[in-house]
Amino acid sequence: MAKLEILKPAGEMKWKEFADLLRKVRYRVFRLANLCVSEKYLQFHQWRTGQIDALPKLSIGKLNKRLRDFLVEEGEKNESQNRICKNGALPSYIVDALSKYKIGALTSKSKWQGVVRGKTALPTFRGNLAIPIRCDHSPRKAGLRRLERISNGDVELDLMVCLNPYPRVVLKTGKLDGSALAVLNRLLDNPEQSLDGYRQRCFEVCQDRNDPKRWWLHVTYDFPAVETKANKEIVVGIDVGWACPLYVALNNGEARLGYWHFKPLGERAKSLESQHLARRRSMLRGGKDDLAGDTARSGHGRRRRLKATEILAGRINHAYDTLNHQFAKSVVEFAKNHGAGTIQMEDLGGLKDDLQGTLLGQRWRYFQLQEFIKQKAEEAGIEVRKVNPRYTSRRCSKCGYIHVDFDRKYRDTHRENGKTARFKCPKCEFKADPDYNAAKNLANLDIEALIKRQCRKQGIAVRGDEAVT
Ligand SMILES: [Zn+2]
Repeated sequence: MAKLEILKPAGEMKWKEFADLLRKVRYRVFRLANLCVSEKYLQFHQWRTGQIDALPKLSIGKLNKRLRDFLVEEGEKNESQNRICKNGALPSYIVDALSKYKIGALTSKSKWQGVVRGKTALPTFRGNLAIPIRCDHSPRKAGLRRLERISNGDVELDLMVCLNPYPRVVLKTGKLDGSALAVLNRLLDNPEQSLDGYRQRCFEVCQDRNDPKRWWLHVTYDFPAVETKANKEIVVGIDVGWACPLYVALNNGEARLGYWHFKPLGERAKSLESQHLARRRSMLRGGKDDLAGDTARSGHGRRRRLKATEILAGRINHAYDTLNHQFAKSVVEFAKNHGAGTIQMEDLGGLKDDLQGTLLGQRWRYFQLQEFIKQKAEEAGIEVRKVNPRYTSRRCSKCGYIHVDFDRKYRDTHRENGKTARFKCPKCEFKADPDYNAAKNLANLDIEALIKRQCRKQGIAVRGDEAVT
């Protein structure tokens, strides 16, 4: 997905008029999403209690009509809605939420009873939803514009959010970050939507959470499968490091990316985070209630202060976004430069609190990084595999012996000159940076089988999902 900023509405339309229209459409999407969930639940309840025989299908048309009736009842004039058409398809997040909820309700009786008794709330959508934009297959025939560069160099798009005439928008193209610019150019290079180029798929419009004056266009796209000369046997292993954010190694040992490469990026994020923490602390110190205090007793002051910390948290998350993009980019570039056809990284399933103390620190950040790597790697025709990380930090990447005691505690208590302990194989005496050693292990195509075999040999018990890395 590429994120592009809307610079202004094109033609005669004023910003105010445009933003009003978007807000109106968004309100409808938001009401529709919530209506959809409650209708679905009602039907489920009726079916479960035997009032109806089968679960009927909800059509978007029926829901739209129901919503329209609601809005009219609430005093909104019919004419004011006429401009806003129904959204052709059920937006994907509504569908997602419904299927999730339906499965949850069906498989757990307690959940359903919880709702009946008023203990569990139905899932609700909040106001700031992304607005799904219809994307018809052949808009050109209808004189409509997909993302297109026009003669004066601007990039324009028709937003099919309402009835014709659709608002046309100009996108911001100056100061785009590298990857968004590259995607945009590739999309613009393929106006015929041909299969061997990048194709525009869906659009969404979303208001900036921190700056309500800014609106973003999210573009999802397809890209052609790449035929590569990449060799599947050349494997890149990635480890979330202790001393540095990431360690990247090749299975043939030819090259690595580590401390010196990632440290500057990591430091920047770290300093941002400590600034954020300090500001958050000082902001909250002023109030009589701390964060864990009883919300019911807290006044407006607390709320206002929290708003500011939320904005800060948004910024720090944004910084991590950017950081993760840069990490992912370096990893994939590294793989490409060395002709690697496979990237292996840890499957987070078995990785519990082990991320604490690393730069990424939180699971979702690592998840996000993995997603970014996956996306960029696939565009480059590189396969991404996730492997069980069990013992990958404790295996000697040279002889395969598992140094069972080499866990986090060991690394912390055996510091050398203030630095985390180096890996030293008790059997062959191979010495290495512990992060490099782990990455090197992860770069092994058969790592899971190798470790299993070695465990058996050394008599190490391997339990189901034990989170031992
Ligand atoms: Zn060894």
